[in-house]
Amino acid sequence: MASQTSNKTTAARLAGENLRIPGPVPLPDDILEAVGTQMMNHRGPEYADMLARMTANLKTVFMTAGDAYFITSSGTGAMEAAIVNTLSPGDKVLSLTIGFFGDRFGDIAKAYGANVVAMQFPAGQPVDVFALKAKLKAEKDVRAVIVTHNESSTGVANPLKDIAHAVKENSGALVLVDAVSSAAAMPIAVDAWGIDVVATASQKAWIAPPGIAMITFSAGAWKAYQTARMPKYYYDVAQYRDFLKIGQPPFTPCLPAMYALEVSLQRIVDEGIESVFERHHRTADRCRNGAEKLGLKLFPERRFASDTVTAIRVPDGIDGKALVARVRKNYGAVIGGGQGQMTGKIVRVGHMGWVETNHVDSALEAIGKSIAAMRAGR
Ligand code: PMP
Repeated sequence: MASQTSNKTTAARLAGENLRIPGPVPLPDDILEAVGTQMMNHRGPEYADMLARMTANLKTVFMTAGDAYFITSSGTGAMEAAIVNTLSPGDKVLSLTIGFFGDRFGDIAKAYGANVVAMQFPAGQPVDVFALKAKLKAEKDVRAVIVTHNESSTGVANPLKDIAHAVKENSGALVLVDAVSSAAAMPIAVDAWGIDVVATASQKAWIAPPGIAMITFSAGAWKAYQTARMPKYYYDVAQYRDFLKIGQPPFTPCLPAMYALEVSLQRIVDEGIESVFERHHRTADRCRNGAEKLGLKLFPERRFASDTVTAIRVPDGIDGKALVARVRKNYGAVIGGGQGQMTGKIVRVGHMGWVETNHVDSALEAIGKSIAAMRAGR
């Protein structure tokens, strides 16, 4: 009730909760401190200096010598940028969807008039690369293949390297990737894998607040840009390219998120990206093992399971929504429920970015104890 909370901000009331949703992620103290620092002139020399270093670090994470940009928006804006900068209305787009966010990528392309051909795979499954190869041979003139790297709604990681290679070997299509919940946690070798545009967002494994989206843009994407006729203004990548040359953003950036990203990007690069990826894999394994030790079943098969979010089946007879609410109320752990068709059927534990082992362990313990109590009718 409002009266009980009137003398505290919402953020202060929630401090101390174990935020284990698949983004936004919690931030360690030094990054929170960076978020709370004074605003600056985004057209001054300090911003230019910061932007140059951040852009170099971003390219390191994406293993690319191509272009990379920061855009003030959430991840969906970066997905929209990938579409509008490379395609024209009527272009055939092959949309590989394994869940809620895959469907969204297709919806964006449709909204701008693309001729979207969807290849849909069952929830909990990744893209079938053999089926993709056959489809590419059957479908002529596919201009772009759009795909989610890590489907946050089902905890499934797609075999992105194999998908990208299949597309490049069997067609002349662009590869546009939603890596919102995988980048900076799972490897994405943009140049080596031949990926044209990657879209991601600051509030995920990048350990920053929401507000900044990031995209990579390949030489092939620039070639497509020359003829792309979808309408665009705010997301027109040429504006970001031209302003980057003078060390500026085209529009006022979300400075607090940029301040955080400056720190976290440097930390990722200093740690070494291979080490960051391995650490995420170890943490994910710990979560998967812990869930199985509680007698719970993982939703995807282990070999398809994501390294940033673990989806766990809600046991028969347990109300999934009530489970999420109980875990929070009794144990202060904030986990995700199911989205779309998965509502009530799974719970999701996020483990990307800054994760201590006790963050994962205590969330699992809360899930285990809550299920036991619910089964006992308490
Ligand atoms: N794609 C994926 C895979 C995501 O996990 C999310 C966010 N949960 C999005 C897209 C959308 O990102 P945003 O909410 O930042 O627009």
